[in-house]
Amino acid sequence: MKKWTSLLFVAIVMLFLSTGMAHAATTVQLKPKLILDGKTLQPKVPPVIIDNFVMVPVRIVTENMGYTVNYDNKKKQVTVSDDSTEVRMTLNKATAYVDGSAQTMGISPQIKSNNVLIPLRFLGDSLDIQVMWDNRIKAAFVYSSGNTNPGNTDVSDTKPPEGGMIGNLPGGQGNGSDDTVPPEDGMIGNLPDKPTDPGPVLPSVPPQVAGHIQEVRYEPEAVVLKYDGLVTPSVTSLDFPKRVVVDLPSADFNTNFLPALPADPALGKQGELLVSDHPALTKVRYSLYADNPRTLRFVLDLNQPWDYTILNNTTTGELRIELKQPVPDKSLFTVVLDAGHGGSDPGARGISGHWEKEFNLIIVRKVQALLANDDRIKLVLTRSGDTYPSLDDRVNLANSIGADLFISVHANSYYASTNGTETYYTRANSLSFAKLMHSLMVQATGLKDNGVRQAGFKVIKYTTMPAILLEAGYLSNKVDEPRLWTAALQDRVAAAIANGIKQQLKLS
Ligand SMILES: [Zn+2]
Repeated sequence: MKKWTSLLFVAIVMLFLSTGMAHAATTVQLKPKLILDGKTLQPKVPPVIIDNFVMVPVRIVTENMGYTVNYDNKKKQVTVSDDSTEVRMTLNKATAYVDGSAQTMGISPQIKSNNVLIPLRFLGDSLDIQVMWDNRIKAAFVYSSGNTNPGNTDVSDTKPPEGGMIGNLPGGQGNGSDDTVPPEDGMIGNLPDKPTDPGPVLPSVPPQVAGHIQEVRYEPEAVVLKYDGLVTPSVTSLDFPKRVVVDLPSADFNTNFLPALPADPALGKQGELLVSDHPALTKVRYSLYADNPRTLRFVLDLNQPWDYTILNNTTTGELRIELKQPVPDKSLFTVVLDAGHGGSDPGARGISGHWEKEFNLIIVRKVQALLANDDRIKLVLTRSGDTYPSLDDRVNLANSIGADLFISVHANSYYASTNGTETYYTRANSLSFAKLMHSLMVQATGLKDNGVRQAGFKVIKYTTMPAILLEAGYLSNKVDEPRLWTAALQDRVAAAIANGIKQQLKLS
């Protein structure tokens, strides 16, 4: 399934419940972010570092804070103003006028793709607001004065207008009359040398809210938090009862958080999400855990120990807590290999006249040969000849011996044009095994990738361990069928199954 394989490209860190503190993995960020009051802005030109100065597009930031921005094309002048303050800056001049008094900006405003960029630090100084550059995550934070109050959550969700566009600047226009540019007060020749500090880094006052959580939801085998801005999760696992605790400092609920928070303020900002179809996860509780610094807490309640992986994709704004069945720590694993059909039930008839039951048994016997000398795996076959154990017999065998894995091998039949390899699972605790085995199977068959599918086949539904059903290809298809009977394909499929078993049991 494409949506699962794409996760392989995200950096992951395996974490186990028994290890206590966990650390989040963060994906590499390609484009610097601009975050105003915890909301990620979408400027056409992202922040950029020039000569040690963090430069940000002035219009998108200040307009979102309620300032009026004007650009005088002739004078090459940008004016940012509100009722009490006026900041006037000129392109390629490092002197600005704040309420009429000259101030050096350290570096002159620059134009990039019709957007005027100014130093982040000057923006903070001139408007008397808090700004911060986090070089680790390449994000510029701006806090409008109304938002330095930790209790303030009144943040607009509206998309910014025009991504930082400053007027219309025809490229290459150089005929503005220089005599209209305000006098320089002689400052231009007396600028200090390039500052020795690395730009506007003001970490002394940590931001109160860097990110807003928009949604918490449960997907098969994962709890997903959608967010805007930035979150830096701190993850802990606790016992009695078993639970995974995800703290998000400097974060708050979005005003439109889903599922909706209680309307009655007396009930506080909290809620829970019940989960009914996971073997370990029973619910997700969430609350505003602390006010200063503002911290959200998400608790995953478990009814048994379970492994998890944290994936924080800062590009898509998605924090995933992927749940994984723990692999028991033991020296001998029991694996049931089920050759589908047999005896009186021949299964699908191939277009060459061969029966599916023959193919299934050939594959299972080849896997058996490959694993014969591995004393860490006890392989149990539901049939080793042309016999027909009932589906109940197969299920009962696997459950009664406490098998660790169950694999049923089949080949398919449908319309003549239908072809390809697919892997089935029924229960959530089988999905990761299905994904693993399917990726190996598709490589081994070389046939069309039909993905991992969920279906309620009896042998994988009523068994209790991770259980999958493989459909190697279509005996009814003229492309698949001749290949399925070649020793080369059969050997590759058997090797894939043996490998998948070892990988799932973490034996290779
Ligand atoms: Zn079959």
